[in-house]
Amino acid sequence: MSAKPIKLTTDRKSVLDILKSSDSPKGAYDILDELKKVKSNAVPMTVYRALDYLTEHGLVHKVENLNAYILCNHPEHHHICQIIICEACNKATESCDKELASLVQKKAEDAGFKISKAILEITATCEECLANDKGNAAL
Ligand SMILES: [Zn+2]
Ligand SMILES: [Zn+2]
Repeated sequence: MSAKPIKLTTDRKSVLDILKSSDSPKGAYDILDELKKVKSNAVPMTVYRALDYLTEHGLVHKVENLNAYILCNHPEHHHICQIIICEACNKATESCDKELASLVQKKAEDAGFKISKAILEITATCEECLANDKGNAAL
């Protein structure tokens, strides 16, 4: 399979920039609101089309749990991404452990499966929220 060159149209680039400036996954309508600041006639379809393209090319991940999108940290490699999401504030971080990725790949292959989409979503509580929680518990 040959890698298709990535073509960034203005809309795709704008959506990518919006995601770049956020440290939590964003829903399509949040993205649309921001996109309207630079493109007043943007419609949901504009965003969905751009997101489809960006996810298909591995530049952006869809976080199914939140029905939201996050920038991929390492779009140059297509291995299995692990996204850790804080369930309290929705902040997310991507970690890509190669060993874990190849283990998941191997397990799938051993079971006769070919992975088509490999994103592990890990629900967690971030450091900040943990600290806040402790603060609340003390009250
Ligand atoms: Zn990734
Ligand atoms: Zn948090």
